[in-house]
Amino acid sequence: MESGERLTATSPTEIKTDEDLLGPGAKPGTVPTDLEQATGLERLEILGKMEGIDVFDMRPLDASRKGTLDNPVMVRSAGEEQYAGCTGVPADSHNVVWLRMDRQRPVERCPECGSVYKMEYVGPQDDGHGHGHHHGFEEPKTFADYVKPEYW
Ligand SMILES: [Zn+2]
Repeated sequence: MESGERLTATSPTEIKTDEDLLGPGAKPGTVPTDLEQATGLERLEILGKMEGIDVFDMRPLDASRKGTLDNPVMVRSAGEEQYAGCTGVPADSHNVVWLRMDRQRPVERCPECGSVYKMEYVGPQDDGHGHGHHHGFEEPKTFADYVKPEYW
C-alpha cells in the first residue's frame, strides 16, 4: 500500500510558492484576460480549469449511498490513477480502506463493505504516447473485457 497522497488533485504541479500565483499582468496595449489579472486562489482555480481540473473539488467521497456495479460511486480523477478511501455507508462505518483505481481498471470494490467505486477520468485525452509515468505493461484488453469487475 502506498500513501494516500494521490487522493487530491496533483496538478497544477508547477505551483509551489505564492509568487507562482501572481499573474504577469496584461502586456501593454492588450486587454488583460481573466488569467492575466487574476491572482492567488482565483488564479489557481483558473489554472486548474485550464487543465480540466476543478481544484476545489476535494469534497469527501459520496457516502450517502452504497455503490453498486450497476451504479458505482463516481470518483473524478485527472490522472492515470486515483486512490479512494472508503469508510462505508454511512461514513465511518468501518476503518478506512484504500482502493486503487486507474484508467485500465477504473472499477474497484471495497472488501469491507462491498461498495463499488468507479474512477471517472476527467483529464486530457492522449494518444497513448503521452507524457508522464507509465506502468510499463499493457493490459491484455481482450482478456480484461471478459473479466467481471468483482474478480479484479
Ligand atoms: Zn467500504
